Amino acid sequence: MHLIQQVLFISVLSAVAYVFIKKSLSIYRNIMLGKAFNSYSSSSERMKNMLLVGLGQKKMFARPIAAIFHLFIYAAFVITQIELIEIVLDGILGQHRLLGNAMQGTSLAGLYNFTISFIEILSLLALIATFVFLSRRNLIKLPRFNMAELKGWPMKDANFILLGEIFLVTCIFTMNSADFALQARGNEHYHFTGNFVLSQYIASIWSGCSDTTIILFERLGWWGHIIGIFGFLVYLPFSKHLHILLAFPNTYFSRTEAKGYISNMPEITREIKYMMDPTQPAPEANPDMKFGARDVQDLTWKNLLDAYSCTECGRCTSACPANLTGKKLSPRKIMMDTRDRLEEVGKVIDTKGKWEDDGKKLLHDYITQEELSACTTCNACVEECPINISPLDIIVQLRRNLIMEESNAPAEWNNMFGNIETNGAPWKFSQQDRGNWSNEM
Ligand code: SF4
Ligand code: SF4
Repeated sequence: MHLIQQVLFISVLSAVAYVFIKKSLSIYRNIMLGKAFNSYSSSSERMKNMLLVGLGQKKMFARPIAAIFHLFIYAAFVITQIELIEIVLDGILGQHRLLGNAMQGTSLAGLYNFTISFIEILSLLALIATFVFLSRRNLIKLPRFNMAELKGWPMKDANFILLGEIFLVTCIFTMNSADFALQARGNEHYHFTGNFVLSQYIASIWSGCSDTTIILFERLGWWGHIIGIFGFLVYLPFSKHLHILLAFPNTYFSRTEAKGYISNMPEITREIKYMMDPTQPAPEANPDMKFGARDVQDLTWKNLLDAYSCTECGRCTSACPANLTGKKLSPRKIMMDTRDRLEEVGKVIDTKGKWEDDGKKLLHDYITQEELSACTTCNACVEECPINISPLDIIVQLRRNLIMEESNAPAEWNNMFGNIETNGAPWKFSQQDRGNWSNEM
């Protein structure tokens, strides 16, 4: 029986590792379709960003109640990995509580009991947080969780994971409480490994059951827990929950320039410099030159990493003045569209072996001119994002393409561009008249 379980476990583990690694490599390939990004400046500041914003979740605490519940789930997820190491080792080696048994009789025995008890407390807190998050989405229906872009799969995705969390915690307590009951009865395969802080009380539910029944539930809890984790691993790269992993590189590579800084286009800078000072070398004509971004391959790989890292929390959209005043723009949708388009491009490469134009573009087919024109470039979305994503950077690049390659701008903007070109200012007054205000002085 042990051998069958061992073989089954190793087979499932290998299949899960294969699917997870394959999809992860395809995501990496997709991200690297982006253009170069200057990512290696000021590494100490980047590391600080990652520790504070990624690991420490500093920006989450701008909304403290949600942050505390999120912290429960996050801490439970991280700390449970310790128990997971033991479960995987047990599964491969056909053992039961390998680490717990090895620590018994040594000075580390208390540490094992403390770790399992700590995991149980965090699991209970995570369970409470899960019900709060499910209620916010499905009962209270917070506006930012019920916007158009979340209808359908994104809403289901969020709920699946929360329901999965309830399943995992139920399995943990079933496994631990049944294990504790068997330990207390002195069952030969279940040696004493500690008084698990919550399961020692839950174990009373097994009092009227036979050893065989309790072992069955202990195994169901154990297998349910590990299958749940494996299922989560397979599901993760297809879900917004990929942020659990990508939040770290994403915060590390997030911009360190001043908040209002918008990067120039070097091609334009060279042209302007030459216009202002014709003694400068004339810029070389390049008929292939592109302005801004039209599709995902024209964005930087950091923009694409942003898209895969987005948690779809909607904090950006809830702070966006354009969205708040009823415009069509939602910065969260910008990130979701970029990810969807990138996935679509990746699928073409997977099926055809290389990129072949599929007749679609991020601009227009996913993100419309109306959305792009509504952005005030206020930076509020970037400021709000808990993992330093910049929807603004994508908006600006798409808008540059819209205006400089398609001359596709609202009429009011075209007047302004004309004024800047002829008068050197957004208003329609000649440069010669600029000093007129002083005539009466
Ligand atoms: S920069 Fe644009 S998208 Fe971001 S919050 Fe401001 S208006 Fe909205
Ligand atoms: S861009 Fe940031 S704030 Fe906006 S939905 Fe994604 S993770 Fe949330």
